Order: sequence, then C-alpha cells, then structure tokens
Amino acid sequence: MSKSQALGLYIHWPYCARICPYCDFNVYRPKGADDLLLAAILEDLRHWRERTGARPLASLHFGGGTPSLMSQQAVGDVIDLAEHLWGFAAAAELGLEANPNDLAGFAGFAAAGINRLSVGVQSFQSDVLERLGRDHSGDAARAAVDTALKAVPQVSLDLIYAWEGQSLENWRSELETALGTGVGHISPYQLTIEQNTAFGKRAERGETLALEPDDAAEFYELTDEIASSAGFERYEISNHARSKAAQSRHNRLYWEGGDWIGVGPGAHGRLGQSSSGGRIATEAARRPGEYAQSIKSGSWGVADEEQLSAEDERAERILMGLRLLEGLDLDDLHAATGLGIDETGAERMIATGLLQRDGARVSLTREGQVLGDAVSMALVP
Ligand code: SF4
Repeated sequence: MSKSQALGLYIHWPYCARICPYCDFNVYRPKGADDLLLAAILEDLRHWRERTGARPLASLHFGGGTPSLMSQQAVGDVIDLAEHLWGFAAAAELGLEANPNDLAGFAGFAAAGINRLSVGVQSFQSDVLERLGRDHSGDAARAAVDTALKAVPQVSLDLIYAWEGQSLENWRSELETALGTGVGHISPYQLTIEQNTAFGKRAERGETLALEPDDAAEFYELTDEIASSAGFERYEISNHARSKAAQSRHNRLYWEGGDWIGVGPGAHGRLGQSSSGGRIATEAARRPGEYAQSIKSGSWGVADEEQLSAEDERAERILMGLRLLEGLDLDDLHAATGLGIDETGAERMIATGLLQRDGARVSLTREGQVLGDAVSMALVP
C-alpha cells in the first residue's frame, strides 16, 4: 500500500483513574458512563465508514486518557467493527496505550486483537513516580513491561526525563533499566510544564519542577548515546526503535502527512491528501457527554471541521515531517500542497549547522533536533 492510501484510525478513551499533575490532554475521571461512550464510538465508526469509503486500515490506535481501563470486550467490539467496516491492511498495527496498573488486562487485549502495547512506565523509580504524581510503583512498572512482552509482539514504553533535580547519572540508570527489559521501542519525553495543569499552577506560585531547556539538552544527547549503544535508532525526535518493524506505524502516519480518522471525545483527524482535493482537519466534541449527544443527534461527533489552506497544510507537513530523522521530502511536499519551503530560512539554518540537505530531502542535524520546532519554523514562509 502506498503512503497516500494508508488510513489510520485513532480512538480516544478519555478516562483516567487519576489525573496526572503534568497532563494537559483531554482527560476526565471515570463517571460510570463507559457503555454510553462505547455505544457512541461504535455508532461514530459507522458514520465515518460512509464518509471514507472502503480503504483498508493500516493502523488502529487506542489512545487517551487510559484505554487500558476499557474492558477486553469493549476493545474487541471496536476492533471487530473496524474490521467489518474497513478491514485491515496486511501487517496492520493495532496499538493500545496502557497504564502499568492495568496489567491484568493485557492478555485479554491481545486476545481481542491488539498487537502493540505502549506502557506508560514514565520511570522505574517509585520516588520519581511519586514526584510525578503517578499512581503506580517501580515494581508495578517492571511487572507491566514483563506482562506486555509476554502478551504482544511489539511493546513500547514511555519515559519522562528532566524533572527538577534529576542528574545525568539518574537518567542513565533509568534508560539502562528500560533498554534492558527487552522492549523494541522507547519514547522518552522531556517534562514540560503546561498551563492549566496542577504543575502549571505550582510553577506559577514559584516552584521549579522541570529542568531548564539548556540542561535538558544534555539529557537528549545522553539518551542518544545510551540508546544507540543498546542497538536503538532515534527515528523521530522522541522515539527510538530497535528495528524498522518496532517503529510506530500509526505515529508515522502523523509525521508523514497520512490520513487518519479521529473518533472519541476531542479526537483530531486529517483526511485528504492533495492540494487538488484539499485536506480536512476534524476535531470531535471534547466532553464525553457532548460527544455522545452529537452522535445521537445523527452527526459523526465532529464539533469542528476545517478545510486547511495549502499554506496551513505546508506548515503542518514541515513541522511534522522534520520530526523524523529521515526528514522531509520536498518533492512530496510540493506534490501534496503545490508549495515549497522558505529557501532563505533553510539556507540560514544550514549555515548555522541546524539543518542538512541531501537532494530533495531536508533533515535536522543533531543540534537542530534539540531545538526542534524552532528550526522547522524557519522553513515555513
Ligand atoms: S494517565 Fe496519561 S492521559 Fe491520564 S492523566 Fe496521566 S498522563 Fe494524562
């Protein structure tokens, strides 16, 4: 299947047993309304099938929130209906984000069809987990990774680094523990303090909770060094995989400008590949009750739908494409939008050693990766 035909499906399950103090996702405490939400999601899938027509799914991803709070039956119902409506492409990725505390459900998710679990480990150190406001222990994190490895062929784990006071030695040991578990994929995220979170409010009161960006850059370098010596390649700014097969196929759709349907409260989607057809950005109603109500009233849950201009699409493709180590193909960009990059900005970034060019492809250098979006923005006219 070519990149342009690939279709992904994202399901947002918005409930979390506890809201983490750094999290600014669209999340809610469970209210006992799982059946209503599941029914709305299943109905929404039927609507979306009318809109997309028959295109096999390259990936189905349950994100959140905490989709590991879903029952095996609920996950199976979504997978079965998606298969019935669209069917799955060969070697489709069926992923689910899991809280370590939900490890008892992992084998059931695998039986329902899940073949990739992303375990929200964040740290293997109980005191660090407590500092981050997580509701699991280091032992639970280890047990969850072991259970996931027995349940499914692909396991990824998320880690958080650059909390205030963390030493490079502490991060080294955390990474070595993670890489030694046998997983094929890790996603280390720098702790960032977002407004309207509990950490954001504490930071406003003057508390320092995360390291400064300059200090965090050393952690980024160390991550590369340790992960690559363990045989992992950083294929995207925050993602390292042991092999091509271990990379996240669903996330690659986002980075490569592919199409995906976003189903569930607040889920985003993108449809349409070329400037001739235009690209549509959708966002579902954010609150679970509103979302379920909008499905009941006969729409496909979408609260906001926008036809992106060629310029907006270009900006999105530049920012997302440059996250990949392999960078952005300028011929693909032109084919999709009819537009190119800001050549003056690109030359400036190349001259400062933050960007490199190889034929029709531009990519961030190691120094550029640390600065991320700031470099990519220079390519957006
Ligand atoms: S479990 Fe994940 S999605 Fe839920 S509040 Fe914590 S960080 Fe956010």
